Amino acid sequence: MKSDQAIKLLNDEGLRLDGRRLDELRPLKIEVGVLKNADGSAYIEHGKNKIIVAVYGPREVHPKHLTLPDRAIVRVRYHMAPFSVPERKSPAPSRREIELSKVIREALEPAILVEKFPRTAIDVFIEVLQADGGTRCASITAAAVALADAGIPMKDLVAAVAVGKINGKIALDLNHLEDQYGEGDMPVAMMPGLKTITLLQADGIFSKEEFKQALDLAISGIQVIYRKQREALKKKYEKMIRTVTGGGS
Ligand code: UDP
Repeated sequence: MKSDQAIKLLNDEGLRLDGRRLDELRPLKIEVGVLKNADGSAYIEHGKNKIIVAVYGPREVHPKHLTLPDRAIVRVRYHMAPFSVPERKSPAPSRREIELSKVIREALEPAILVEKFPRTAIDVFIEVLQADGGTRCASITAAAVALADAGIPMKDLVAAVAVGKINGKIALDLNHLEDQYGEGDMPVAMMPGLKTITLLQADGIFSKEEFKQALDLAISGIQVIYRKQREALKKKYEKMIRTVTGGGS
């Protein structure tokens, strides 16, 4: 939630509280295949966010009446651990988590070839272990990689980042403080290879020029994230090849 209180989020050199430039992403690390029991999984550290994603499916649908005759259904559960934020979060699903589960599903679904698996379900479980702003975007980035790891056919990966306005300037990849005390934030997800936006939300007021600048900045950040996603997937398969061919791990 935004605060009405104004705080200085940029220093005299134009650097942010965590030392970043306005167009700089937070450090990003993605790992693939981190859970043995899931069909696909991924772990992401995006700044101070730490999120784990497990994907199951395509598998039988329970309860049966949810089945669709011509396509798979995609179900997403976004959940924050009680210890993921400074104030203990109740483990019961909040309205925010229900909304984010829907938003994340809608951002991922256009990339999945759901028509290939009629009468099945693809389940995506997202556990936020530590949150620091932008968790919906980091969840989308990690979930796309976990879906690919599960071998689910996709048109493209989906990568996401939030941009926003802090002290009147457009900034890439807001952290929690910037999200809370900034003038606006705008989460964007896209299938970068297909140049298709699958999520665009905006909170706050952006002029037409600011909106354009923010979107361009998001797209440039997404290209970097997309590269990291593909590198993470490649790394898993290179490791697998080395194991199979006896080249060690
Ligand atoms: N947050 C929190 N307690 C909550 C929910 C959120 O402290 O119960 C923090 C958390 O750091 C989160 C940030 O507020 O990342 C921004 O939340 P928002 O709803 O804007 O979603 P996000 O930016 O994580 O996609």
